[in-house]
Formats: sequence, structure tokens, C-alpha cells
Amino acid sequence: MVDLKGQYKKINNEIDEAISKVVKSTNFINGPYVEEFSKSLTDYLKVDFVIPCANGTDALQISLMALDLKKGDEVMCPNFTFISTAEVIKLLNLKIVLVDIDKDTFNLDINCARKLISEKTRAIIPVHLFGQCANMDDVLSFAKDNNLYVIEDSAQSLGASYTLKNGKTLFSGTIGDIGTTSFYPSKNLGAYGDGGAIMTNNSDLARKIKCISNHGSISSYNYEYLGVNSRLDALQAAILNVKLKYLDNYNLHRLNIANCYDKLLVSCDEISIPVRFKQSTHIFNQYTIKVKNKLHRDSLINFLKSKGISTKIYYPKPIHSYFPYRIKSLKFMENTIDICQKVLSLPIHSEMDLKTVNYISDKIKSFFNKN
Ligand SMILES: *Cc1c(COP(=O)(O)O)cnc(C)c1O
Repeated sequence: MVDLKGQYKKINNEIDEAISKVVKSTNFINGPYVEEFSKSLTDYLKVDFVIPCANGTDALQISLMALDLKKGDEVMCPNFTFISTAEVIKLLNLKIVLVDIDKDTFNLDINCARKLISEKTRAIIPVHLFGQCANMDDVLSFAKDNNLYVIEDSAQSLGASYTLKNGKTLFSGTIGDIGTTSFYPSKNLGAYGDGGAIMTNNSDLARKIKCISNHGSISSYNYEYLGVNSRLDALQAAILNVKLKYLDNYNLHRLNIANCYDKLLVSCDEISIPVRFKQSTHIFNQYTIKVKNKLHRDSLINFLKSKGISTKIYYPKPIHSYFPYRIKSLKFMENTIDICQKVLSLPIHSEMDLKTVNYISDKIKSFFNKN
């Protein structure tokens, strides 16, 4: 699904030099390399504050911790996402409200959120799934009407941008009150280990988030908040600082691959290609098709496997189907339930060539011609 070795080979001198610099400096925790990366990402995203942390899950947890929510307060997030988004809500003893998704974009459906809102709802976490932003005009107006905080989970969408109805274009993760991202190796900006970051334009929140990520300390041995130990490693920061320069190229390459898949697969009636949302650019962390007849998905997976093609189901089940997240009513969950049975993600990455896209698309079409 990814080619991290191929990607490394193209920039190995720069990366090796960056790593070696950190090792020689022995500045392993915080220090100049983390500062430098934080500054680069701040400039790239045109946001006021970037606070690096240990991973994308921590980024979400720390963001929620900064909001002073009380036990029993409700936080909304999509039912179709990676587990982290939901996990942190439960970990903080908050009540999770799972929201159904739009069947075309796979992103949170604000009409469903409107049905589930209560006077206890305090925050909403839109996830910009697979690299494309959720409908942030809807999210922002819904949040404004109901006095909610907005935390954008941009783990899969770093570098995507969104044009609001008022004409303003902003980067994913800089539109709500807080944005989070992940540098897990398979994300579009991947570290060589774990990493994450939190973005905000709110100086009070930035200060608090910075404290919370460092044991809640406002200065040395002065703990103003309940915090956690969540730092970005200096080695990862140095690597990310090299790779950030290439992020736009990586994203553009993925987009070209996706455009090519689209062209080759649009005529295949048995599947649907990803639906683009006009307000957002798409950085294609995943290229996810829908197999219209869900009974064919498993055999398609096996057929492609026999041709040397790996695929992956993101995500096989709704969040609500896992034990810690069970909910009483399955009302308003139709799209999530249906889509989990139909989605299939095809290989897409910064090193993929058009020959491979052709090969994969051919095999998909030949599978259905036989069926
Ligand atoms: C990857 C991911 C995360 C978590 O990131 P980690 O760095 O692995 O903790 C959170 N949310 C979404 C949507 C993700 O894809």
C-alpha cells in the first residue's frame, strides 16, 4: 500500500545528514530541531501556533483536555473513522455521540449531528477522511448555532485546503478552534516512527496545549494543569523538517495517481470511484472505492491478491460495533453500516507509477467482466 523505501532512497542523503546532526548534538528531547520543525509547519499551514506532540492520538486527547470539559459532557465524532478519534473521548470520561456520514464523501453528515445534539454537547470532531475535508461550512455554522468547540482531525489530510463559502481558503486543521495531525509513517507526511501535532490560532489554547503536553507544567516544576508526557522526538522532528519540503509534491503525485484511477475506473459500473467535494482539495491518503454489490468485495480482494495487488478495508466496522463504544440506538447509522461493507482502498503513494495504476485498474475491470 505504501513504498517507504522508495521514498527514502530519493532523499537519503538529506535524511541521513539530518539524523546524524541530531545524534551529534545529543539534543534528543525538545530543543532546536523540534523548534525548527514547529516553525516550518507553522509557516506552511499559515497558522499562528503549532505544538508538536508524540502522535496523532495524543494530539486529539490533549486538544480535548485543553477544553475544560466535565464528566458527562458530550463530544460528537463520526462513526466511520480510525479508532483514535473515538477513543480519546471515552478515555477522558466524556460521552461520545457517534454521527453518521455522508454516503458519497464518507465525511460527517451534519444533518445527523443536528438530530443528535443535546444541551450537553460541547464539542464536535470532524475527521477529514482519506485526505479530503469534511463540509466545514456546515460544521462551523452548526458549531456556532450550538456553541460547540471544533477540533479537526487532520491526521489524513495535512496539506489539503478548504475554500469556505465566504471565499477564504484555509489549510485543513486550521479552520476550527483546534486541528490535530499525525506523522505516522503511512500518512502523507510520515515520520520514521510516531509523531503528531496540534494547530490553533487561539493563543490561550496554544499556551494551555503546550503546558498539557509537557506534564501540565507552565514552567520548570510548576504544574498548572493535569498533563501528559507527549513530545515529538528530535530525531523525528529533523526528519519531518526535511520531508515537509516535499509534502506538496507527495500530495500532488497522489492526486495524479487518483486522477488516473478515476479515468480508468469510471466506466466500471460495479464500483464507484471516490466522490470529490468541491470546497476541498484532496490529498488522497487513501483512494477508496465502493463495491456496489457488497457480496463481491471479498472475492475482488482475493482476486487482486492473487495478482499481487494488496488492498485494505478502511474501515471494516462502524465504531459503535466495538465493545467499548456500543450504543443503545442504531437510529441514523445507515450510511456508516452500509459503507463499511462496501469500501475498499487501493494502493496509492508518492512513489507509485502510472503503469501500476493501469495494471491494477485492468485487473479490477477484468474481475467484473468475469463476474
Ligand atoms: C492515523 C490517525 C490517527 C492517529 O494517529 P497516530 O499518530 O497513529 O496516533 C487519528 N485519526 C485518524 C483519522 C487517523 O487516520
